[in-house]
Amino acid sequence: TSSHVERIPATLIAGDGIGPDITASVTTVLDALGAPFEWDKQEAGLGAFEKEGTALPEKTLESIQRTGLVLKGPLTTPVGKGFRSINVTLRQKFDLYANVRPTQTLVPGGRYENVDLVVIRENVEGLYAAMEHYLPSGNDPQAVAYGAGYNTRTECNRIVRFAFEYALKNGRKKVTLVHKANILKILSGLFLEEGRRVAAEYEGRVAVEEKIVDACAMELVVKPEQYDVMVTTNLFGDILSDLTAGLVGGLGMAPGANIGETMGLFEAVHGSAPDIAGKGIANPLALMMAGSMMLAHVGRLDLSQRLDNAMKHIIEVDGIRTRDLGGSATTEDVTQALLRAIR
Ligand code: ATP
Ligand code: MG
Repeated sequence: TSSHVERIPATLIAGDGIGPDITASVTTVLDALGAPFEWDKQEAGLGAFEKEGTALPEKTLESIQRTGLVLKGPLTTPVGKGFRSINVTLRQKFDLYANVRPTQTLVPGGRYENVDLVVIRENVEGLYAAMEHYLPSGNDPQAVAYGAGYNTRTECNRIVRFAFEYALKNGRKKVTLVHKANILKILSGLFLEEGRRVAAEYEGRVAVEEKIVDACAMELVVKPEQYDVMVTTNLFGDILSDLTAGLVGGLGMAPGANIGETMGLFEAVHGSAPDIAGKGIANPLALMMAGSMMLAHVGRLDLSQRLDNAMKHIIEVDGIRTRDLGGSATTEDVTQALLRAIR
C-alpha cells in the first residue's frame, strides 16, 4: 500500500568512539520512521586512518560530493604533526558556511523550561582565519602575540540571509544579529551593516533585533526564552552555541548542522567520548536530533516532527535518561523506546 517514495542518497559516516553505537541507533529509528534516505556507508576519522592510512579517504569525499547529504558520527583527528582537524577540513572543502545549532528544552526539571532557540554561526571567516604570529621586543622573539581576522561583505550578507531564510522556512519569528560593533567598529561593524541591509528585505515577515555579544551572553543565562534565531560571526558563535547547549542538558542533547549552498552535513556537537566508547551507554539523542534536522532539510517536516515528538515522549512520559542526564538507560533502551513511540 506504500505510495511511491523517492529515495534520497545520503552518505553515512559512523565515525570513532561512540560513533558506531549512536549512528546505529539513529539509522534504525530513521528507517523505522520511513525516512527516504538511501545510506552510502563510508569511513573517516581515526578508524579510517588506521585501516587505510588516511583519515579522509578519497572514496568518502567522492560520496559526499555525489550525495551532498551527510549524517556523520564524531571523528577523532589522528594526533601528530601535520594533521588538521577533519571536521574543519570538511567544512572548508565543501564550503559549509553555516553552522546551525538548535537548543530546546526537552528534559523537564532543568534550569529553564521554555528554551527554543537556534544559533547560526558563520563557519569560514572571522577570527578563525587565524592569521597569527609573534612580534619580537628586546631579546624576546615572542614578546607580543599578534592575531587578525577578516569578514567579507559577501559572506556576512550570505550568513544573515541564511538566518532569515531559515526563520521563514521553520516558522520562526525573530532574528537577532549578535555583534561587537561598538568596539570592533570595522570587523564586527561590517557584519552589522550587512545584517541590517539583509534584514530590511525581510521587514514585515521576520522581526530583527541587534544585541552586543556580552549583553547577549548574560541574557542567555538570565532569560534565554526571549531568543529565537540568533546569527553571528565565527568566534562569538562558537562560544554562544556551547553556552546554549549547556542550558538544556549538555552535549548529549546538542545537534548541529553544517550547511553549504547545495550541501548539508548533520552531526552531534559532542566528540567521540572515548571514556564510554563500546560500553553501549552513550546518549544517541544529539545525533537523533541531527537526523531530525536532516529530514527537515530535505523537506520532510512531517517525519522530522514525528521524530521530535517521539523524543519528547520518551523523555517526558517514559522518563528515559541516559547516564549523562543522570539516569541509567543504555543506548539500546533509547532506541527501543523510540521505536515504540513512533509506532
Ligand atoms: P573528542 O576528542 O572526540 O572531542 P572528548 O574526550 O573531548 O572527545 P567529548 O565527546 O567531547 O569527549 O565528551 C566530553 C564528555 O562528555 C565525556 O566525558 C563524554 O563521556 C561525555 N559525552 C559526550 N557525548 C556523550 C553522549 N552522547 N552520551 C553520553 N556522554 C557523552
Ligand atoms: Mg571534545
